[in-house]
Amino acid sequence: MTLNEFDIIQTFFNKPITKSNANIILGIGDDAAIVAVPEHHELVITTDTLVANVHFPSHTSAYDIAYKALAVNLSDLAAMGATPAWVTLALTLPEANEQWLTDFSNGFFTLANHFHTALIGGDITRGPLSITIQAHGIIPKGLALRRDNAQVGDLIFVTHTLGDAGLALQHQTLPQNILDKFYRPEPQIVIGEKLRGIANAAIDISDGLAADLGHILEKSHVGAEIIVDKIPLSHSLLEFVSIEQGIQLALTAGDDYELCFTVPENKLSQLNNNHVTCIGKITKNSGLDLHYQNGKKYDLKIHGYQHF
Ligand code: ADP
Ligand code: MG
Repeated sequence: MTLNEFDIIQTFFNKPITKSNANIILGIGDDAAIVAVPEHHELVITTDTLVANVHFPSHTSAYDIAYKALAVNLSDLAAMGATPAWVTLALTLPEANEQWLTDFSNGFFTLANHFHTALIGGDITRGPLSITIQAHGIIPKGLALRRDNAQVGDLIFVTHTLGDAGLALQHQTLPQNILDKFYRPEPQIVIGEKLRGIANAAIDISDGLAADLGHILEKSHVGAEIIVDKIPLSHSLLEFVSIEQGIQLALTAGDDYELCFTVPENKLSQLNNNHVTCIGKITKNSGLDLHYQNGKKYDLKIHGYQHF
């Protein structure tokens, strides 16, 4: 069967919307979609592109490509504290392969449905494989978590564990739970939502903790002290690398899509979450001061991934 553009949209992307976190007035099929932002809320918008051989190795399955493309966008919404509502999908494909599109669509809608996020439009073009998603979230007015509001004295936290995704990118033969951290990152939507009104600043960790925390420090005009042996590393990771290598992966490898956020001391009691670890604090001195619990200085060697 040869698939034209219309067939592709109808067969693989124009799915009945099971449940959406916010109102859709007009979905796929017209020149553009129409949505309604709930009263007393703001719209949070982000976009991210995934390019074959840059963001994922060429052997990646269509399911995982779709899952990751959506996950990294939802992760940006999580880092703002927003609730995802709608997404658009611009897909550039070298060819219209039915099996590939079926797997891609399954990966996409598995994650989209999990977070009640509706696909409301997009575009299809022919060319080297590339996926661009725009995600729209909603948040009560004024409550978005930004990078520019970390305050001196705030404690710095990260969610879950870091470094697994970095290892998964280096080796293909690892247990599935480590590989999944790279190929199917879990956007931290639920934690992001709970941080509204508690965290002063937040970011998702896509380029490594050092680089991403660096963005908070720069935008907030503050510094930070991080105790590197408090950075949470998974048991699975430590079966394959030393603590030293784990710390290095966490600080520099990226692709974890966990959250890093800062909380003032008077809000600590509201945080109350088993999935977060305190790794340091915001300081007046600019720059990132990395050391061990015993006071020994940590030397950071590589910086986060940069495209140019
Ligand atoms: P136009 O030419 O007016 O831009 P298209 O023919 O590109 O419209 O798309 C027709 C409809 O299908 C539009 O509503 C568009 O948003 C939707 N659409 C196109 N590609 C996708 C896709 N990959 N996923 C979801 N919706 C899509
Ligand atoms: Mg049109």
